Formats: sequence, structure tokens, C-alpha cells
Amino acid sequence: MKNAPRVVVGVDIGGTKVAAGLVNGEGEILARNRTPMLTTGAPSNGLTAVSTAIRGLFTDASSQNQISAIGICAPGPLNPTTGVIINPPNLPIWHNYPLAEEMRRAYKVPIRVDNDANAAALAEAKWGAGRGYRNIFYATLGTGIGTGIILDGRIFHGKTGAAAEGGHLGIDYKGPLCNCGKHGCIETLAAGPAIARRARHKLEQNPKSVLWEMAGGDIQAVSSEMVGRAHALNDPVAKEVMRETLDLLAYWLGSIIDLLEPDAIVIGGGVSSLLAPFLDEIRERWRGACINPRPLDITLLLAHYGEGAGIAGAAALVDEEERD
Ligand SMILES: [Zn+2]
Repeated sequence: MKNAPRVVVGVDIGGTKVAAGLVNGEGEILARNRTPMLTTGAPSNGLTAVSTAIRGLFTDASSQNQISAIGICAPGPLNPTTGVIINPPNLPIWHNYPLAEEMRRAYKVPIRVDNDANAAALAEAKWGAGRGYRNIFYATLGTGIGTGIILDGRIFHGKTGAAAEGGHLGIDYKGPLCNCGKHGCIETLAAGPAIARRARHKLEQNPKSVLWEMAGGDIQAVSSEMVGRAHALNDPVAKEVMRETLDLLAYWLGSIIDLLEPDAIVIGGGVSSLLAPFLDEIRERWRGACINPRPLDITLLLAHYGEGAGIAGAAALVDEEERD
């Protein structure tokens, strides 16, 4: 197999699935595979799921010799230096599990491990929307808000790897309780479930909204995606919900700008498509949301990677010299 081309594998481990992909030096995902994550029993079951996902990328087991390095993104908290998975709430099968060490033993290639938002941030900086910018703040908005900070092209980890939890910046200490145990984190105010919750709350007072129709008369069925569609139809409830969401996000990003003054802010995740028509409106709100004299010089971009953000992010963790 000496002359076979070498490939980098990116592995995206979630609470319910493992996605693996072959990623080239330009950040293109050439092949991908997905298997359920095994979440019960011995910790090695989780490793078996990862191996199954990787094996599915190759026609036969021996082709796996082509792998030059493997990058892995996994739910935190984890230690990106040692590759130990500490105690992720949505991955209880691994508790202080030395994932990098076990993978190195199994594949005998360099292994890199980081959390999913940090990894996705790096992929955007290297190959995606943030390419060409030196310092980037990345946020993925979905059921939660994950963030990553790229300074001079590298992930900012803090002392132990726990830095850049920007989704849990509190912007209202009397606000609603967040999953993390704090009150008023931006995640609990402006992620997908918060947008839907705000819409439901307003619907109770407004029988005229088109959202009722979209949800089939079931208020619990209202989603953030429906809010976006209703907004496009000029629905008053959706407009109010979006205005509040944009206010919250702009206020939060204003604080990020005052703290980091990044060259670019990149927004990804499922809720980013809902926000796509409103990027200029968010930027306009920065004027009153930060003391930075020139916030409008900071670019606000939609992420390049969608569903493949985890795979590309994992592959981006691999150093250039480990590619060959
Ligand atoms: Zn929180």
C-alpha cells in the first residue's frame, strides 16, 4: 500500500450518531458515512461505533492503511491536549475516557481531539467563510449555541480547554434557567428552542397569526423554522419574535466585539438559515450594543459548512505535517 494516496479522516461524534468522512487538503469532504453511536455498556462500545463509521469509508479493511491521521470532534467537556473525554452530559458512556490514546493504539496514526464548536470554527477559518481572516469568532446556533475562537489561525483553548463557551455568556442574570445551571445565558434566550418558546408565548395572546395554521392548530408544534416562514409572510407574531431575537443576538455579539474585536464573525448551525436574511439588521444593531468605535468594519458571515461542519472541523484539527 506504500504508493496509495494518504487520506485524512474526520470523525464527528454526537450523542446518537457517529459521522466519518474523508477530507482533502482543501477541506472538501470526498466521502462520508454515518452509524448510530453506541451509548450503553462498556466504554469500548463507543470506540466500536467509531471504528464502524470509519471502516464504512473504505472498500476493504486493508485500505484503511491509507489513513495518515484522524481528527475527532466530540461533545465536551474534554481535554484537547490529552484527548481525554471528561464527562459529557449527552455521552455518558465515556467518563474520563482516553479517546485519543485508544484511537492511537487502534490506528497507529496521529489523533487529534477537540469539541465540536472549536473544530467547526477552525474549519471555517481554514477552508470556509472565515478563510483569509486572522481572528474569528464562530457561533453555531441550533438547539443550543456553541462557539469557537480562532486567534492567529489557531483555536483559543484557555487554560484547560474549557474556554470559548460563548453560548453560556449570561446576558440577563434574572433570565430563564439554562441547561447549564446558570440563568439568562444567550443559549437559553436565543437558540432554536427559545425562539419557538417565545413564539408560543406570544401566540397565546394572538389568535390571528399564520403560525397557528403552520402548526396545525397545535401550539406545541410551533418551531423556530416556522417563525422564519411566517416572518416572510409578514406575520405580526413572527415579526415580533424575530425583532427580539435579533436584539438579543446583536447585544450578545456586541459584547463579543468589545471583548475580542475579531476580524469576522461566522454563524452556522440549523438556526443560521433562519437568520440569513437578517445579517445586516444584526450588524446595524451593533452600534448601540458595543463601545467599539467601528463595529461595522467587522464582517458577519454565514458559515460555509452545514451538515458536514463536524467532519470538516475534525479533519481541520489535523496539522499539515500530519497529512502526509
Ligand atoms: Zn448556559
